[in-house]
Amino acid sequence: MNETNSSWFERAKQVIPGGVDSPVRSFRSVGGTPYTVRSGKGAYVTDVEGNAYLDFVQSYGASLLGHAHPAVVETLREAVALGTTFGAPTPGEVLLAEAMTSRVNGLEQVRLVSSGTEAVMSAVRLARGFTARDKIVKFDGCYHGHSDALLVAGGSGVAQLGLPDSAGVTAGAVADTIVAPYNEVPTLDDRVAAVLVEPVAANMNLVAPASGYLAALRAECDRVGALLIFDEVITGFRLSLGGAEEYFGVTPDIWCFGKVIGGGLPVGAFGASRGLLSSLAPEGPVYQAGTLSGNPLATAAGAAVLDLVSGEDLTDLADRVERFALGLRDAIRSAGIYALTPTAGPLVGLYLAREETPAPLNFAESKELCGNGLYGPFFHEMLRQGVALAPGAYEILFTSLAHSEEDLGRTIECAGEAALVLADL
Ligand SMILES: *Cc1c(COP(=O)(O)O)cnc(C)c1O
Repeated sequence: MNETNSSWFERAKQVIPGGVDSPVRSFRSVGGTPYTVRSGKGAYVTDVEGNAYLDFVQSYGASLLGHAHPAVVETLREAVALGTTFGAPTPGEVLLAEAMTSRVNGLEQVRLVSSGTEAVMSAVRLARGFTARDKIVKFDGCYHGHSDALLVAGGSGVAQLGLPDSAGVTAGAVADTIVAPYNEVPTLDDRVAAVLVEPVAANMNLVAPASGYLAALRAECDRVGALLIFDEVITGFRLSLGGAEEYFGVTPDIWCFGKVIGGGLPVGAFGASRGLLSSLAPEGPVYQAGTLSGNPLATAAGAAVLDLVSGEDLTDLADRVERFALGLRDAIRSAGIYALTPTAGPLVGLYLAREETPAPLNFAESKELCGNGLYGPFFHEMLRQGVALAPGAYEILFTSLAHSEEDLGRTIECAGEAALVLADL
């Protein structure tokens, strides 16, 4: 067959619902046909037609070193020859757990799983089991994976499709989930097992926590004996080496990780103090398990990435991103479109508007901007110039350590061009 993006997508649609294995990839919210990736190298991906794109998707943050980093590829080559899964303890899972716990203050143990969804789902079960309480609090627009209890008022793909939540989730499954606005401290009571939060909200575009917000959540949890869960699936080992705990100086009771810690392979993890995790089977009554959990390939890739990334790498990247954010904002504004590019460490968001507007503090405000129809045409103008942003207004721009000053400079120029087209629409 002819190797084109559209021929592959047509073929995919015959055998995969909507042609994709995760809805955001379908381009549904920006229109058009997705490019089908053949390969990636560093900051770039190449599609089946041979077009190269500077990639700001980076597997939604799973790739911190960039694609196909030589050391990670070599590690995997060695690991695969030893066998890919055993269903018995392996050194690799110990090494990854040690790498994680040694970097994050207060994190004493982790249980490895295979996705961020699993990590959060299991963390919630642990919190309920440990506290013997039912209710959980989540924040409007935060995304915590696709498990039933957490699929209310989710950001990311759920928001892009305009779904308030998902069909197929029973009222019973979400009856104990309380939804509060981000950047507001809910008043809790002693029925609440846990408060679950993205320490930097990065699935409703980027909404940073207001100064003192996370500390106030911590204090409110302590007041009623509820546990604070940080969903660090995006922020973990990216915001800083010690994650949000180090960056904001607020310590949760339970951490959830994913994305970065798999080095591009499927991994998630949840962790806490030894005391809390002693509630987990086989030591305690909270059941959790997984055939491929702690998979040798995934743990080898994850440990290799953590080994290769220093705190200085992340602060350097954050500095690059800070300059990039200002350049991007100014280039777009100069072309006659109002832009906001909030940052938190190396995380950067992008809001476009026709008129000057304040930075969103919660999902309702983010929706106003992300739903104004400007992102789709902007996205396509960038793609036409060889810059791949995420195909949805609620995603942030994911940089990797492979994104050079030059790459970011070129992106700023492309954004200026794209904004000129938008201003003429
Ligand atoms: C991506 C994400 C998840 C879900 O992780 P998966 O590996 O896609 O299941 C959970 N929480 C946050 C904050 C995420 O960004």
